[in-house]
Amino acid sequence: MTASADIADRLAALIAAEGPIPIERFMAESNTHYYATRTSVGAAGDFITAPEISQMFGELIGLSLADLWDRAGRPDVAYVEMGPGRGTLAADAFRAMAVVGLRPPVHFVETSPLLRSHQREHFPDATWHDTIGTLPTDVPLLIVANEFFDALPVRQLVHTFSGWRERMVGYGPDGFAPVPGTAPRDDKVAEHLRDAALGSIVEDNPAARRLARALARRIAGQGGALIAFDYGHKGGSHGDTLQAVHAHAYADPFARPGMSDLTAHVDFGALRRAGVSGGARGFGPVDQGQWLVALGLSDRAAALGRTAPDRADEIAIAYRRLTHPDEMGSLFKVMALAAPGWPDPAGFA
Ligand code: SAH
Repeated sequence: MTASADIADRLAALIAAEGPIPIERFMAESNTHYYATRTSVGAAGDFITAPEISQMFGELIGLSLADLWDRAGRPDVAYVEMGPGRGTLAADAFRAMAVVGLRPPVHFVETSPLLRSHQREHFPDATWHDTIGTLPTDVPLLIVANEFFDALPVRQLVHTFSGWRERMVGYGPDGFAPVPGTAPRDDKVAEHLRDAALGSIVEDNPAARRLARALARRIAGQGGALIAFDYGHKGGSHGDTLQAVHAHAYADPFARPGMSDLTAHVDFGALRRAGVSGGARGFGPVDQGQWLVALGLSDRAAALGRTAPDRADEIAIAYRRLTHPDEMGSLFKVMALAAPGWPDPAGFA
């Protein structure tokens, strides 16, 4: 039996025994299996992320952290990355930070043993954490998250003839499919959305909100900042944004649990409010393209082009992919949280 059949069988057996399970649980179980077993990120994997497109992405994040740290008076700090993937972003950021003398200890929050082994190749001395609970408590934290919050499980509510219900996943002759739950959930839907057309879906990410609030509490208490990049929106209702990617193509999110990357658009408005409720100051979201250009992407691309003229085309393509509104430039957003006593992160004015 293959590993993927294993998780599909396990979820099918669970549903047969207990009835349909919430989408939130299906997504969590599928992703835990997926990241632990598949080469997810990179050309040979299922999807490409900004740090895998160009070294410039991680370098500019490193520069932004170094700038913030410098203006904060160069305290002892720890670098924290949530879901670092192959460790590429951190490796590029550390090259840029070292130029100004910032070489903090590295803490990775990563649940996948497979991805931890990739990260170890770049950072043999890092400390790995399953959750943020074990992160250091005695120094300010510089926290980075790229395409992390989008992988956390969403909860969906659907408007049916009998009222609002949680959207669940059932299992039948045609495999896994969404079905409405039986318990009324009208009280979980914001009042202005309750009369939405039948079939409307409202999505929420309780896990992302809890985490943003918990990280904000850490920052507010210890000092530091968080900077998060993801595809998403500023808030409001966007319906069902759950999607699956397998081998660089969209797939049915329910068809093969554990075999494709399940993500949902990040509601940055909700994340920022969660962060502010945890005691941090909020910045953004702004479009990723705008932020990268504000941080000096054009100069960095020109400088790279001068030192490696043979790579000029590749650099121009990467620049376009990272910044153009038709590519990652405006679908992707950047948001920051900072401790009350810390300076404002650059690029959000
Ligand atoms: N930041 C990387 C990888 C993005 S993929 C990049 O930009 O290339 C999502 C990452 O988050 C993976 O490393 C995955 O293993 C990790 N991840 C997903 N859910 C997680 C969770 N609940 N706790 C910790 N890490 C998680």
